[in-house]
Amino acid sequence: MKQNNLSFFQSVTSFFDKAAELTDHPKGLLDQIKYCDSCYWFKFPLRNDDGSIEMIQGFRVEHSHHKLPVKGGIRYSELVTEDEVKALAALMTYKCAVVDVPFGGAKGGVKIEPRRYTSTQLERITRRYTTELAKKEFIGPGVDVPAPDYGTSSREMAWMLDTYVTLNPAQLDAAACVTGKPIAQGGIHGRTEATGRGVYFGLVRAMSYAEDMKKLGLTPGVEGKRIVIQGLGNVGYHAAKFLQESGALIVAVAEYDGAIYNPKGLDVDAVQRHRREAGSILNFPGSKNFAKNSDALEYECDVLVPAALEAQITAENAVRIKAKIIGEAANGPTTAEAEDILSQKGIMVVPDIYINAGGVTVSYFEWLKNLSHVRFGRMSKRFEESSHRKLLDAIEKTTGRSLSSDERLAAMHGADEPDLVDSGLEETMYNSYDAIRESMLVTKGCRDLRTAAFMNAINKVAVSYAQLGIFP
Ligand code: NAD
Repeated sequence: MKQNNLSFFQSVTSFFDKAAELTDHPKGLLDQIKYCDSCYWFKFPLRNDDGSIEMIQGFRVEHSHHKLPVKGGIRYSELVTEDEVKALAALMTYKCAVVDVPFGGAKGGVKIEPRRYTSTQLERITRRYTTELAKKEFIGPGVDVPAPDYGTSSREMAWMLDTYVTLNPAQLDAAACVTGKPIAQGGIHGRTEATGRGVYFGLVRAMSYAEDMKKLGLTPGVEGKRIVIQGLGNVGYHAAKFLQESGALIVAVAEYDGAIYNPKGLDVDAVQRHRREAGSILNFPGSKNFAKNSDALEYECDVLVPAALEAQITAENAVRIKAKIIGEAANGPTTAEAEDILSQKGIMVVPDIYINAGGVTVSYFEWLKNLSHVRFGRMSKRFEESSHRKLLDAIEKTTGRSLSSDERLAAMHGADEPDLVDSGLEETMYNSYDAIRESMLVTKGCRDLRTAAFMNAINKVAVSYAQLGIFP
């Protein structure tokens, strides 16, 4: 998608260049980091039930091989272009570096509108797409590991896994060839909600700094804050749900076919139910419809969470945005031109390469689980519970006070997979935010979180190249 004068990839590279100016790496190394290492463009036929044949276009871009495997989602959308996949692959490199996930960046795309295909057709497309990737070694646990993205889910990942295993029957670690799989196929608890949960943790951390919030005219904490969500898909729905559970008000929601608002707050699950039954979020009881879906972006709120597609906040509408914070749940929702306007307006942008990294973080945990062939917590849960029980017995004996059965159960609980995944995600999102904020504060000339995040990412990738002996 063209972002005003810059393409999406050019917009990403302009963010890169701004941050690179604050580093002292040589131009050759910066170019090596910035541009895509491999770009695979291909087409394949889909035979429809009526016998007709349709040509399908697929892409896989591996942006950076400084660490292997490379990692990145597969997008199904009729808007997919080579430029978009390159931009998204580049963002993956920087994102993995920001949250210390040891992968290079990649992205895949199939240029289709999934709503127009039956599930049988989508299965055929997915299996053939996977076969094309396998033919060129653009998929495999040690080389390139896809995941879900816009328009795909665990269902597509299960088809990809099955196709890969069929082609590589003797490969012990084959399950690690994709992440975001169903649990029964080697997936991990918490992956489905991971990106939205990470957005939630990112906002909680960003909004915990009283001095930063004061500058925006806000009190610390997410409780009571008015939030607008654009895109009630996987990421948007989960981000909205966790924010609402923490006491935030979801005052407006936008979808591709319209947007609704209620200054007193919308119940996210009820909106989802209404959408399933009525086929649209529009006319949700107790809410009002906006004239156009893009009006939601300009609605009065504290936090705007774009969770749909890129280039939603542009030079054209940035001037009318009223949010004080933008949490970029989607990839590339703000164009480089819009960024300057937002910055002049004093809006705090929590950048995509940090705030939507929850998905790849938990994908990393899933990949580790697949390589180790054991569920997190399996070896330790009972041992921890037995140790906790002994400790509680000793405390009760010494103090003479007995805990209630609820207190005992809570204190005894040993960590299982969902607990460990959530804890690892929270740790990652909090630490990474602190690192970005610190870089922003200590680096002369760095005034925003995006530049700081890019700077941290560039430095980390540069260190990897130095360790490979490629650059001094
Ligand atoms: P999804 O397909 O589950 O949901 C996207 C939603 O946005 C859909 O409900 C769609 O109808 C809606 N939408 C489309 N156009 C819109 C418009 N113009 N206005 C309002 N809503 C619109 O996709 P997702 O996985 O939630 O991904 C959303 C964004 O988050 C993408 O930019 C993706 O790259 C990014 N992301 C996703 C993940 C992940 O784990 N799924 C990880 C990181 C980043």
